[in-house]
Amino acid sequence: MSHIAYVNGRYLPQAQAFVHIEDRGYQFGDAVYEVTCIWNGRPVDHAGHLQRLRRSLSELRIAMPMSEAAFSAIIREVVRRNRVKKGTVYIQVGRGVSPRNHPFPVKHIRPSVVITAKHGAGPSEAVAQAGVKVAVQPDIRWGRVDIKTVGLLPNALAKQAAVEAKAFEALLVREDGTVTEASASNAWLVTKDKAIITHPATNKILSGITRATVMKLAKQAGYTVQERAFTLDEVYAAKEFFLTGTTTFVMPVVQVGDRPVANGSPGETALRLRQMYIDYVNGLGDEAWSSAVQSP
Ligand code: PMP
Repeated sequence: MSHIAYVNGRYLPQAQAFVHIEDRGYQFGDAVYEVTCIWNGRPVDHAGHLQRLRRSLSELRIAMPMSEAAFSAIIREVVRRNRVKKGTVYIQVGRGVSPRNHPFPVKHIRPSVVITAKHGAGPSEAVAQAGVKVAVQPDIRWGRVDIKTVGLLPNALAKQAAVEAKAFEALLVREDGTVTEASASNAWLVTKDKAIITHPATNKILSGITRATVMKLAKQAGYTVQERAFTLDEVYAAKEFFLTGTTTFVMPVVQVGDRPVANGSPGETALRLRQMYIDYVNGLGDEAWSSAVQSP
């Protein structure tokens, strides 16, 4: 079965889907994106992803190319045409096509919209139950990583370094020793007195949609959650460490660089939050397609 992509108003087999060579997303990284998880045929935190897409576009002063309801209808159609039950949807919106020149085009141009879907969602449950290793990499990204732009080269380089170190993810550390997040997921630690800590949603991290949901679930379950920056030394001294993300869910980390986290086995808080998150996504019904924000 060939993959069907939505490209600027048309549904096309991916092999026939192209963007213009003067698309500003291609030339300047002048585009933003979202990745959402499809679980049992339904989107996870669909409204939250659309809300973040709207924010990213607004930060770059790109107009929303269509209503959230129209986005929902197209995403649903791409999922249907590709028969995705468990997988991901990729949404990219860019400023559009214009002769290459740094400033925004003076004339109004039509934003470029591409939506694709892929089968397969995340690492296996066995990987999560065993816990993963992360590599440590310098955070060399720009100052607005809260905007989900396609400018992902530093993330790709960090992830490649992780792959070469046989690690699941790359933990990004600033020059001052603080840990921001990982190359494609948010980072959390659990202290000896069981407080859960994650970096605040500033310009230094991408405010994860999974992060927001896990934070709500954790608070509902009575955990103390603190949003503050933490250092790599605190990670080494932590009781638990874990990651969250759309395709990762909640992933216990058992090794950071060459050091084990605590006793080197997945933490009970991380495993419990993972189960709570899985229960939440398993409980999604057709209302998940609504663009109004749902709560876990
Ligand atoms: N940080 C970065 C840098 C990411 O790329 C991602 C994945 N989009 C995340 C965090 C996790 O965000 P989310 O939970 O929305 O997938």
